Formats: sequence, C-alpha cells, structure tokens
Amino acid sequence: MTPKILIIGACGQIGSELTHKLRSIHGKDNVIASDISYTNLDIVNSGTFEILDAQDYTSVKVCIDKHEINTVYLMAAMLSATGEKYPMKAWDLNMESLFHVLNLAKEGFIKKLFWPSSIAVFGPTTPKEQTPQYTIMEPSTVYGMTKQVGERWCEYYNKQYGVDVRSIRYPGIISWKTMPGGGTTDYAVEIYHKAIAEKTYECFLSEDTELPMMFMDDAIKATIDIMDAKPENIKIRSSYNLSALSFTPKDITQSIQKHLPEFTITYNPDFRQKIADTWPNSIDDSKARVDWNWEHSFSLDDITSEMLTNLEKKVLQKN
Ligand code: NAD
Repeated sequence: MTPKILIIGACGQIGSELTHKLRSIHGKDNVIASDISYTNLDIVNSGTFEILDAQDYTSVKVCIDKHEINTVYLMAAMLSATGEKYPMKAWDLNMESLFHVLNLAKEGFIKKLFWPSSIAVFGPTTPKEQTPQYTIMEPSTVYGMTKQVGERWCEYYNKQYGVDVRSIRYPGIISWKTMPGGGTTDYAVEIYHKAIAEKTYECFLSEDTELPMMFMDDAIKATIDIMDAKPENIKIRSSYNLSALSFTPKDITQSIQKHLPEFTITYNPDFRQKIADTWPNSIDDSKARVDWNWEHSFSLDDITSEMLTNLEKKVLQKN
C-alpha cells in the first residue's frame, strides 16, 4: 500500500517535524498537513495544508475522502499543563478526536492509524524506576486520564474490529524548530532558548526532578519505525513504553555549562512540580526494543550540542 498520509495537528511541536520527515520520505503530494489554525507558516506553506477541527467528524471524513487518505497520524491534543487549566476541554478534545479516527478506521476509511500516548499514563502509585510496560497506572492529571483511557480504546478497536492502530508513550520531547505546546517537560526546551538569549533561566521544576526525555529526531524515528513495522511485530496494541534517557534540571544545566560556563539557573517550582512528581524517573522500554527493534541515538550532551548550535544559527538568521 502506497501511504497517502493525513497528519492532524501538524502545526504542533511533534506534528511539524513529523510532516517534514514524512514528506521527505513519501513526497510532498502524499503527505497532507492539517491543523485547527495557521500557527506554523513553515508547515502551511510547505505543501498541501487543510484547516481541520479534529473534533468535527464530518470535516475529518471529508478531508480523508478528498485526498484518498489511507494513513492518519493524530497529533492534536491538549497537553498536561494546559489540560489542568481546562480539564473538560482537554477531555473533549483528546477523546473525541481519537474516537473519530478509530471509528473511521473501523468503517474502513483509514487503513493504518498512529496515536501517541505519554508517560503521563503513569501516576503516583506507579513504580518510578525503570517503570515496566505493564504496571499500576493511576494517572492524576486529566491529560494522563485521556491517554490511559485512549490506550484501552486503541487495544479494544484492534481486538474487536481489527483496526491497525499503533501507539507509543512519548517521554518529554526536546526540539529546537517549534516551541512545545503546554506540557510539564517544556522546561527542557525553554532552558536552551534562555541560555542563549539571557544566559540565565528560572526553572519551574526543582533541581533534582528526574524525568524521561528524548530528542525530537529519536521521537520521529520511533514514530516512523513503529508505523513501518510488520503488523505481526506490533504485539502491544495499547501503547509501547519508549525511552531514551532521563535527567534532572541540574544535569541539563551542567551539560549547558560545558558550552556556556556563565549560564546560571534558579528554581521556582509551580503547579507543574506536582504533575512531574507523579511521573516515572525512568522507563523500561525493552518490549519496543525487542518487538520492532527500537534504538535511540541522542545522549544529553548530544542534545545540548544540537540545541545550542541550531538555536544560535536561528538567532543569527533573524538578525
Ligand atoms: P502541540 O500542543 O505542540 O501540538 C498540538 C497541535 O494540535 C497544535 O498545532 C494545535 O493547534 C493542534 N490542535 C489543537 N486542537 C485541535 C483540533 N481541535 N483540531 C486540529 N488540530 C488541533 O503538541 P505536541 O507536543 O506536538 O504533541 C503531539 C502529540 O504527542 C499529542 O498527542 C501529545 O499528547 C503527545 N505527546 C507529546 C509530548 C511532548 O513532549 N511534546 C510528550 C508525550 C506525548
């Protein structure tokens, strides 16, 4: 099957980079980008773009028919920190958008579906170190609840209706092209921007808050690898644990100081600290490594070099 792809939420942090990567693999005309707004002009102007509300079933179906789509990546969601401010909106967006694409897949309009879950499915009662694939999951955020329930529905649609849905539990994603969209791990992107612009950063998490993280290139690779894997190798149809590395704000500061010794950090934990405290420190992703050969590439120092080099280039281009 030649993939004809629709990305929903293509203007966001992950969707935008996924769009570029998939276009480079399958060609511009085979990858349709869509979002509820024109917030990312780079994406809007780089190929076919549709304004699409993921909560509107008819619009999604019309777009799929119009472009003869067979593969959908649903990247639209309200993330953890914003979700705590607007709990009902987060529930409605995250659940309705998923049901629409699951039902379109059940009815045969979509052949293959990617839907991301998150480490937010875990909660305060989950073992924090090397969190296993199968473990206690009592998320305490609305966002985490939507991801946990979403996972159950993905597995259900696969088992009951044969829907080919694939999912990974992303950790915090670090990237330099697009700013993150309201998550608890956003500090690990903001810190690089502030390091370059102001040589100092006030962190909203405490210095020893350890969280699982990943560089964007690894996250995109995992997304494409799981979608390219043979269906029989995808043995988990809820969502796979996925890991690269774990670090604290103190670790990332030390890594930045290797390049910018004058960089300083202060700590002023806010409501996001409470969310971070319920999440794992590290993740056991051995099932993904065995089932579809997942491997990450970027260490913390690799990420720091990439972030500082590319953000500095961006600043120079602007001036
Ligand atoms: P983001 O907030 O950066 O982007 C989401 C995009 O969805 C935005 O461009 C937004 O305009 C769009 N959108 C919002 N409502 C919409 C609607 N009704 N219809 C269509 N588009 C709509 O999010 P992201 O960081 O790119 O995350 C993508 C997915 O990955 C989400 O499901 C998120 O839960 C998951 N995830 C992200 C991270 C991370 O660190 N970024 C970690 C774990 C999981």
